[in-house]
Amino acid sequence: MDKSLAALNLPPFEKGWVWLVGAGPGDPGLITALGLKAITEADYILYDALVDERLLALAKTGVGMIFAGKRAGVRSCKQEDISNLLADLAKKGGRVLRLKGGDPFVFGRGGEEAQALAAARVPFRIVPGITAGIGGLAYAGIPVTHRDTNHAVTFITGHGSDGKLPGLDWKALGKGSQTLVFYMARKYAGEIADALIASGRKPDEPAAVIANAARAGQAVTVTDLKGLGAAASSAPALCILVVGENVRLREELDWLGKTATALNPA
Ligand code: SAH
Repeated sequence: MDKSLAALNLPPFEKGWVWLVGAGPGDPGLITALGLKAITEADYILYDALVDERLLALAKTGVGMIFAGKRAGVRSCKQEDISNLLADLAKKGGRVLRLKGGDPFVFGRGGEEAQALAAARVPFRIVPGITAGIGGLAYAGIPVTHRDTNHAVTFITGHGSDGKLPGLDWKALGKGSQTLVFYMARKYAGEIADALIASGRKPDEPAAVIANAARAGQAVTVTDLKGLGAAASSAPALCILVVGENVRLREELDWLGKTATALNPA
């Protein structure tokens, strides 16, 4: 493993830099080579609740491990404090790793943290990760796109910055995108389904709730649009919702359900 990683000629993790890295949706095997390198070389790691502990265990001895996520729905520190801490640690000469679940730029506030670093003139690198809306579907055996079912996919958050359902143009979304993938949408799943039906989507269009995707306890419920609210409310809290004909493909492609040992559970 080490030999092949060296052959990749990865960029150095320099002192005074912040790397904003996506850890993927759960399974630690889904992190990138750059992400792994960052974990083993970082002086400080600020990590979110969704990051697998086995990844953190790869850090070097003496690393400064700082939890900067949410526990029981409560943020351990303010967004502003996290951004300031990243900049301060880098300015002191540390190699600072900001490790987030999924992809840092997909509904993960990575953009805000990068803006703060840019404003503080701290050099940073963005290392993308596999977002839950792609990796989670893959682990549920649902292709994000397929020529027979959808030529477009839209990622949507069900949770605006004020905690309410975002004021989106639901009519346009319903008509404009064949497949819709929702993050942070468990609470408003019923309202979302109603808005989509009102936009002209069929009540019996396939839908799925993918909970704990690529983690221990992965649970996929296939339902239809009219059943989405009920399916979401009985699902575990960490879940994404999918609406679209591509959900049907799971009947053929549920590879994980057929190979129980394929998941790398915590
Ligand atoms: N940056 C992350 C998303 C952060 S928002 C990414 O790219 O994946 C947090 C939301 O992501 C959760 O509310 C849930 O909707 C979704 N999510 C993240 N990881 C998940 C997982 N393993 N299984 C299901 N949903 C997940």
